[in-house]
Formats: sequence, structure tokens, C-alpha cells
Amino acid sequence: MELDILKRLTLINRPLKMPQPVDGRKSLAVNRDGRKWKIRKVKELKGMVWHQELGWGSVEAVARYHTSKTSHLCKGGAESIAYSFAIRRNGQIVLCNDLKKATWSQGYKGRKGDENAEFLSVMFEGMFHGVHVTDSSAGEPNDKQIIAALTLWQVAKELWGWEENDLYGHYHMGKPACPGDTLQKVIDSIRVNYTEEKPTTYNFSLVKDRQQALIDLGFLKGNADGIWGPMSKGALIKCQSKLGLVADGVWGPKTASAINKSLQT
Ligand SMILES: [Zn+2]
Repeated sequence: MELDILKRLTLINRPLKMPQPVDGRKSLAVNRDGRKWKIRKVKELKGMVWHQELGWGSVEAVARYHTSKTSHLCKGGAESIAYSFAIRRNGQIVLCNDLKKATWSQGYKGRKGDENAEFLSVMFEGMFHGVHVTDSSAGEPNDKQIIAALTLWQVAKELWGWEENDLYGHYHMGKPACPGDTLQKVIDSIRVNYTEEKPTTYNFSLVKDRQQALIDLGFLKGNADGIWGPMSKGALIKCQSKLGLVADGVWGPKTASAINKSLQT
């Protein structure tokens, strides 16, 4: 997944004349004795959260700090920087960690379960104006950073089959200053666009629900019996190819999202 994302970003960046993304996993500071991140299932990530550095250092400096013994994150420092991606001032996207590492404690009380496991965290280099940011050096994210972040968001959204309101700022999770007023406007505007009429979202957690969807769309005959056999799989393959998806008979997030849309029209 990591390399797929970098490859997609490279292709998009070329005509945009943006700096090519880099894999920082080998070059950023690590602490072998530091607190280990929990491991999560990459496919089950629910969205992306934007953060700001709240400083004028660099992704390298943040990595050195998070892994240092004096890090505020945890005693003895963390094993690596606490973000999945970072965006430099020149618009370069840096992959900071394996995505399976649940890197950041966001303290999100509104959501059950382990909030660390659920999101891709992205940090913008810089110190941006926002609630309680009193530092006189505070400025704004620049256009290249915003373009880079939106590109990363689009690529991830497509790969995971996320919707617009799966993009968050740290302010949603209890830190009003993060990622600052400007990025909050960007995030809010993306999320607002989503709130236009949203018809029923179908839940396909049961085999029966999946079969019923295929029946409703005319790809499967008979009743939903809850047993996923060759007939069901064959129907799904037909449905996938009709919807322009990879026809592999696997019910992944993209398939679910496309079937959801078809059911609504
Ligand atoms: Zn933050």
C-alpha cells in the first residue's frame, strides 16, 4: 500500500510540477528502545487526520524530538515520528512510517475503541494561526502544501473508498489549535460538500445483505440465503465488471461503495 500511494502521487505530481514524494522510513530518526506503536489493519483505516507541526523545524526535527527521551509523547520517547505522512514547506510528501503502525494518540473520546488504530495522520511543517496559537512567528500553510495534502487525500480516499467527511482535523478530536484556521477551512469545505442529500447508506456486513444487493441490482436470482457460494461470487463478478471495477469476486471497500451508489440511483 505504501509504495502504491507513492507511485500514484508521483504520477499525479509530474504535470503539477510538484516535488516527488519520498519514503522517509529509512532516513528519519528512530528509537529502537522507544515505545512501540500498536499494529493495526491497514485496510480498515477509516479516514485521514491533518495536523500542524506547531513549530518551524522540519519533519526531521519532529522525528528527532518524538524519538528523544524528552518527548512529551511518552516516557523514553516513541519508536518513530508520530505521523504516517508529513508535508514539507516545499510541498513534498514524506512517508514517515509503515501504515500498519498506529502512530498517534489523538485522544478522541467520541469514538469507541482504539482511536489510534483508525486514521492516517498527516503533519504539515509549520506554525499556523489558530485557536490559542499565540506565537508571534505564526504564519500560514502555503499553496504547495495545500495542493500536496489534497492530492494525498484524493489518492487515499480512492484507495480506501472513503467519503468526503472521512477527512478530519485534529480539532475534531480535541485539539482546537490543530491544524490551524486555514486548514480547518479547507477541511470544513470538503466536509460541507458532502452534507448534500445523503440517501440511505446500505450496510453490507452480512452475506445476506450482499446477496440482497446483488438481487436488487439484477445480478443474482433467488433468495438471499446467507451462504456465499459460486452463484453469489459469479454474480458479484458480473456486477463488478458492469460497474467498471476489478472483477475479482472480492467484496472490498471500492466494490461496496460502488454498489452502494448503484442501489441509490
Ligand atoms: Zn495535531
